[in-house]
Amino acid sequence: MFKVLIAVDGSEHANHAIEAVAWLPRGPGGLEVALVNVSNPVYYGELPALAQEEVERARRERQERILEEAAQRARGLGLIVGGKHGTSGSVAEEIVGLARETSADQIAMGTRGLGAAGSLFLGSVALGVVHRSHVPVLLVK
Ligand code: ATP
Ligand code: MG
Ligand code: MG
Repeated sequence: MFKVLIAVDGSEHANHAIEAVAWLPRGPGGLEVALVNVSNPVYYGELPALAQEEVERARRERQERILEEAAQRARGLGLIVGGKHGTSGSVAEEIVGLARETSADQIAMGTRGLGAAGSLFLGSVALGVVHRSHVPVLLVK
């Protein structure tokens, strides 16, 4: 089984990455994908406990929505979705760490994401993953 970890942030670029993976040739062992989204850690500062819970709930809901939409898109393209992973922390490190833990054979992601402003060719998360990854990275425009 060839396992591809697709990093999703809800952007059109990440959707293109899902589509590109759906077009990958399938070997005899088949192809399975897992999805990962990483939230930025929330700094609560002086917020009262109740407000902290609210913020945390909103974060989890948003993350679950991104992952579920990506899963539906992937399944609609005939992909087998083996897992949905929501974590928080340093985004590129989390993605590469998860690829390692789940023995992914490849990571797929967009060249840009939600922060797609300016003229940079590659977003910071994409760059960070390419720097750190021990497996091939499929970068999709
Ligand atoms: P920057 O974030 O540096 O302002 P950007 O948003 O345009 O620039 P990246 O964040 O590097 O570019 O996005 C490139 C790809 O990385 C996205 O298409 C997506 O596949 C993945 N990605 C970005 N952010 C996340 C995240 N929080 N969780 C999972 N995958 C992500
Ligand atoms: Mg980004
Ligand atoms: Mg960003």
